[in-house]
Amino acid sequence: MTAFRPALLSFALLLSACASTPTALPPPAMTATAATGVHDNLNATLWMQSAAEYQAATLGSYAQARQSLDAALADTAINALPVSEQSQGFESLPPAIITDADETLIDNSPFQARRIRDGGDFDPATWAAWSNERKARAIPGAVAFAQYAARRGVTVYYVTNRDHASEYQATADNLRALGFPLAEDNSNLLLRGDPRAPGKEKGERRRLVAKDHRVVLLLGDNLGDFLDGVGGDVAARENLIAPYADWWGSRWIMLPNPSYGSWESAVLKACGEQPATACKREALRYD
Ligand SMILES: [Mg+2]
Repeated sequence: MTAFRPALLSFALLLSACASTPTALPPPAMTATAATGVHDNLNATLWMQSAAEYQAATLGSYAQARQSLDAALADTAINALPVSEQSQGFESLPPAIITDADETLIDNSPFQARRIRDGGDFDPATWAAWSNERKARAIPGAVAFAQYAARRGVTVYYVTNRDHASEYQATADNLRALGFPLAEDNSNLLLRGDPRAPGKEKGERRRLVAKDHRVVLLLGDNLGDFLDGVGGDVAARENLIAPYADWWGSRWIMLPNPSYGSWESAVLKACGEQPATACKREALRYD
């Protein structure tokens, strides 16, 4: 029981654009009990796979993104990066969008469903096998938006924390097959460990794009898709985003992801070695 906490955290960190590489593999865990049919991720995964409400939310996000893009293209003073990543001299640069991939553009819920079916916690080998299947589907609204941006002369940069060494080609193939605009040399695809900007957090890759582009919009499903330093506790994360309250829905578009992310790591951080499900129950508010 003590071993699955690091594994669960690693899973959230890997897929949610944070700073850690998965470490030790866990034994079958309390969060994934195939024998009892209980799994922490059941409702979230089912919602993302079957709810018209989820489709409505993502379509709405991309409709908002299109409006924000139009506004930014009409006003070269608009910039979507934190001041530490781009602060001046950007007005005459060509426009770019920076977007996350997993659970922002593409849907990995079958991987979550397999975890629920098979039990056990996150396993990097199982994740790599899934991503190399190249079967992730597009999230509703994502392809049309990316193609619209490209038609308007905006370069779409895909900044994902999928692993450059083991997932680069599969990720490029998957995105391209779905119709996302990729340069012939994949130069607008930046995975974790890209030699051009090898930092684990995404800020370095955002700054790389900002060297010769005005970044007009960020899209993601996790705070790390917008800001570095998101690995704090729940209160620290609230403080981190406070200065950017007006950016959501305009410069920054957040897609819903109740299934995993650094939000989950932040909750578990408070519980030490306590089992994850018990930790989550204790984190609930009752009034
Ligand atoms: Mg993501």
